[in-house]
Amino acid sequence: MTTEPTFVADAQLLALFRHLLPERATLHCTDLTYTDQQITLSLIATTPTSSCRSCQNPSSRVRSRYIRTLADLPWGDQRVCYRLTVRRFRCANPACAQQIFAERLAHVTQPFARRTTRAGAELRAIGLALGGNAGARRSRQQRLPTSPATLLRLIRATPQPAIGSPTQSASTSGPGGVVTTMAR
Ligand SMILES: [Zn+2]
Repeated sequence: MTTEPTFVADAQLLALFRHLLPERATLHCTDLTYTDQQITLSLIATTPTSSCRSCQNPSSRVRSRYIRTLADLPWGDQRVCYRLTVRRFRCANPACAQQIFAERLAHVTQPFARRTTRAGAELRAIGLALGGNAGARRSRQQRLPTSPATLLRLIRATPQPAIGSPTQSASTSGPGGVVTTMAR
């Protein structure tokens, strides 16, 4: 059964919750609601400027805002959801073709993702360990539900280890003989 959301705006509590965020130095928690199943945090970035993705010039001219909804790692047995306010800036460089750009919060999430970067890493690890169907069951148990197809997509997107010549090697003697380890 889902209860009505409870609203929390106490500054000290929000400061504590901010401490649990992936990028607490640049995110501000404006309020929090919770039900018996989910905690929802409203977040906004506090950096005064953002760099244009085309010309890299910083801009402080906020033109508009929009909300992204992201799943994060659970807290105990509670699902956690972010309502992240993303700012659109006007590029300060008149010569730049990119007039408007949305701020990138690379340590929090990736463009178009539906979850935080750390939640995606957790799902990728589950998928690599268990595969699609068993991984999806496990993700539901861990309050980070997703589908087998999404897990398989995350696995396919996992970068392969680089294959190249080793840059360093070390040999150690052990009971089984000489062991050579190579660092890339
Ligand atoms: Zn620009």
